Amino acid sequence: MQWKKTPRVSGATSRVKIPFLRELALSETVFHEVGHHIQIGILKGNYKQEPVAEKWETELSVSYFVRRLWYLSPLFFLVLIIGRAFRALKRMKRQIRSG
Ligand SMILES: [Zn+2]
Repeated sequence: MQWKKTPRVSGATSRVKIPFLRELALSETVFHEVGHHIQIGILKGNYKQEPVAEKWETELSVSYFVRRLWYLSPLFFLVLIIGRAFRALKRMKRQIRSG
């Protein structure tokens, strides 16, 4: 059996035409919920521990997008370096102001 149309996703994400942005919009919810299941099934934790699910959401998202968009890794690396440089500059400004 072959799909004739791409399966529809309900809500705002169905209107996003760019696949990367659509995946990005869905990934937050999906990976967060998977994080809860990892927390309950593997770590035997409490379902209401949101920080644990958020940590898994971040780790799963990074893993997924690194594998999916490996060819953009130099760009992501550049953004990471620039972000760290800005944070270091902010920290230095704060230290200079405080004396
Ligand atoms: Zn949650």
